[in-house]
Amino acid sequence: MKPLTIQGKPPVILIVDDDSVVRFVAREALEGAGFAVVEAVDGADAMRVFAETGPAVVMLDIVMPGMGGVAVCAAIRNSPSGAHTPIVMMAGPDDSEVIDHAYEAGATTFITKPLNRVILTHRLRYVLRSKQIEDDLRDSEARLARAQRMARLGHWQWEPASGLIHCSEDLAEMIGLGHGEQIVTLDRFISLVDAPDRGRIASALASSAETGQGHRVEYAVARAGGAKLIISQEGDAVLDTAGAVEKVVGIAQDITDRRVAEDRIRNLAYFDSVTGLPNRIHLVEILGKAIAGARRQGRELAVLVLDIDHFKRINDTLGHGVGDIILKEAAQRLVQCIRGGDRAFRSDDSRVGAGGGESDSSNTVSRLGGDEFVIVLGDVRRAEDGAGVARRVAATLGAPFSAGGSEIRITVSIGISVFPVDGDDAESLLKNADAAMFHAKEQGRDRSQFFTASLNERAVRRFSLETNLRKALANDEFLVYYQPKIDIASGEPCGMEALIRWRRRDGQLVSPLDFIPIAEETGLIVPIGDWVMQTACAQTAAWTMQGLGPLKLSVNLSAAQFRQPGFVDRVARILDRTGLAPDIFELELTEGILVADTQASIDILRHLNALGLSVSIDDFGTGYSSLSYLKRFPLDALKIDRSFVRDLATDPDDAAIVTATIALAHSLRLRVIAEGVETEAQLAFLRSLGCDEAQGYLYSPPIPAADFAAWLIERRRPRPVALTAMARS
Ligand code: C2E
Ligand code: MG
Ligand code: MG
Repeated sequence: MKPLTIQGKPPVILIVDDDSVVRFVAREALEGAGFAVVEAVDGADAMRVFAETGPAVVMLDIVMPGMGGVAVCAAIRNSPSGAHTPIVMMAGPDDSEVIDHAYEAGATTFITKPLNRVILTHRLRYVLRSKQIEDDLRDSEARLARAQRMARLGHWQWEPASGLIHCSEDLAEMIGLGHGEQIVTLDRFISLVDAPDRGRIASALASSAETGQGHRVEYAVARAGGAKLIISQEGDAVLDTAGAVEKVVGIAQDITDRRVAEDRIRNLAYFDSVTGLPNRIHLVEILGKAIAGARRQGRELAVLVLDIDHFKRINDTLGHGVGDIILKEAAQRLVQCIRGGDRAFRSDDSRVGAGGGESDSSNTVSRLGGDEFVIVLGDVRRAEDGAGVARRVAATLGAPFSAGGSEIRITVSIGISVFPVDGDDAESLLKNADAAMFHAKEQGRDRSQFFTASLNERAVRRFSLETNLRKALANDEFLVYYQPKIDIASGEPCGMEALIRWRRRDGQLVSPLDFIPIAEETGLIVPIGDWVMQTACAQTAAWTMQGLGPLKLSVNLSAAQFRQPGFVDRVARILDRTGLAPDIFELELTEGILVADTQASIDILRHLNALGLSVSIDDFGTGYSSLSYLKRFPLDALKIDRSFVRDLATDPDDAAIVTATIALAHSLRLRVIAEGVETEAQLAFLRSLGCDEAQGYLYSPPIPAADFAAWLIERRRPRPVALTAMARS
């Protein structure tokens, strides 16, 4: 038989027995089999020799005078180097009672006295071999644990039956379980997970328990100090012999560092290092998402490709350093320019009202490379908005750059494509905007160009309208027309609505339906609206002086005017200046204006009431049309929209709506005015319902002030009674 060695030396066996014969027999046998032997004669001696020699195995007599074998066994187990040393108890035939105690004290195995040489040596070989296996196992476990700790890896096991989850020490430490808290309820375990992730991990575990399938989830755990760990967990079900899920076991790994690294890599891959803007790869992703969003919501979207004119010249003459500074600065200006959402679509920053101003993350700037940038406008109300942004962009980049000690001016050429008309995927929109940009370059640079001709025309027309609108007030191009209102009961004119007209210098008359929306968007409506009020009030006051009254004037109001701070004061000043009595002045508002901010609206209306003027709801029936909410606003009158009056005599639905509206309005003590009355049949119907006033072509279209005065005089001229009577008969 091969002699046993430990690190090249024979293993040392410590024999502890008070009986010298036993010691002698054992030594003889063991040395003969290649072991080294040391001896001790009693318990105290044994502890000393053990400490000195560190034997591979201890053979221990159970019964000894003084410190007995069981006590020595326990003492060795508790000593620093004795935890894993095999201890073989030597027991006589009468010692069976003590054997139990020895086992509890940590004895490894037993051998009976008198000793049999052959069995003794073999027993020791077995003991040493299993000790070796145990040591190897312990070693590899320690190595595994160390590796797991380095990999921030832990394991766990969950038994659905008991509801308990058993975490490895590393995992418990990782997720912040307390000391000695390795076995916890599932609830406790989940309570450590970040609230938003709890549902995910609970259902992953439940589904493994239910289906016997594996799972993989990631969740975040908040650690002390606010740090957050990202844990990736994998689990698999363990089935019992009957095929039912007995437990779910798995690993969990802290992947926080990996995430950070991934983010860094993503940053390098997705952002341009010079400007920090998204790069081409990222742009395609951003644009794809924006297109999907626009398609879902049925919106339009604009892509602007922007190229700095003659940038190569800057690089060549001033160096790439200066070129980079300009690119960086241009990027910053672009971002600033398209931030602020709504406002980005206006060409006038000082505009007010109309609900602009909140930031809009659906607009992004990216760098395509070189001196090319791309702006994605994720929400354009009209494609022409793209042209507005292009103008703003050109203006921002037109301001001088200072780099390398000199002042540099640049211009840009911009190509614009619009989803869905110019393409419905990222690639074609970019390609078409690029083509448009080249076209802009060809046309002499420093300009923007739409991809499609028709859009281009629309944009140009709108732009020219906007530019001319700005000058129209100063150029005296506006007029106020008046359209009479008739008191239905008496048939007498009782008032008129002031309606603005724009006669351009080329003689063209522009409908308010075409220019009021632009005036509202640009904020020009405020000065224009003031002008209408001032002009119409002065005219009405003059007519009153001339004895043409009493006539109540009504003027239309836009949301921007109504919400403009100081609006009520300005109305008061106009009344004051023109000397118009407030009780013959009425403002027409639409429902949308009032419900936008109910409380603010009520406050403004109260102030207007305090001035003594009245307020009516215009175009009633086309908006929210809820009479119950009208009750909350201090109002005087309601104008039924033209669309209901039109088919009044023929469409039973419209007739029913108008009937109900008039009845309800009267119950709220509101005057009712019918708009767009064109026929006697409509008038007769309205009269039968008790409608108060009528306005429409039946009497007169809106006409200039002089014509209106003439119309009034003509209408009021007393007709010869006989003639009328004759005509009737
Ligand atoms: P609105 O306030 O509902 O004005 C009534 C519109 O109906 C006027 O159009 C008028 O010409 C038209 N109309 C009157 N009677 C008849 C009829 O019998 N048949 C038909 N088919 N139409 C009739 P207009 O003058 O083109 O004004 C359009 C809108 O522009 C106005 O609708 C009003 O919302 C706005 N608007 C006009 N002037 C001003 C203003 O000074 N300020 C503001 N903020 N908006 C104004
Ligand atoms: Mg009106
Ligand atoms: Mg109206």
